[in-house]
Amino acid sequence: MLKGSCLCGAVRFVAEGPLKLMACCHCVQCRKASGAEFASNATVKACGFQLLAGESALKEYESSPGNFRVFCHECGSPLYARSASHPAYVRLRLGCLDTEFDERPLCHIFVSEKPNWSKVSDDLPTFDTVPEKTG
Ligand SMILES: [Zn+2]
Ligand SMILES: [Zn+2]
Repeated sequence: MLKGSCLCGAVRFVAEGPLKLMACCHCVQCRKASGAEFASNATVKACGFQLLAGESALKEYESSPGNFRVFCHECGSPLYARSASHPAYVRLRLGCLDTEFDERPLCHIFVSEKPNWSKVSDDLPTFDTVPEKTG
C-alpha cells in the first residue's frame, strides 16, 4: 500500500499499487503546477485510492477541459490529477508519496515543451507529446 500526504499534513491518502505508466512529464502545465523541472506521475486505480484525511483541504483546478489537478489549498502541494473521461484512474504526483516503491519511470513525455535550461540526463525513451495511454 502506498501512503501519501501534502506538505502541511492536512491531506493524507493511501493508494494501491502497482504504479502504472510512470513517466517524467515536461509539459508546461506540470512544470507550473509543481514548480519543478518536470513532474513524476503515475496512474493507480481510483477504486484503490482512499483519502484518509483532509477532504476539506482539497481544491481542484481544471487545467484543461475535464482534467482536474487536485492540490492542498493550505500548502499548495500537488497531489493527483483526475480526468472526467477516465474516472476509473487517478494520476498521482509521486513527490507527495511517503512510501518507497519498486516501479521506475518508463519514459519522458512532452519533451517538446521542455525549456532550454532543462536536460534529459538518462537513457529513457523521450516523446514529444505522449505515447498511447500515458499522460
Ligand atoms: Zn497541505
Ligand atoms: Zn504534464
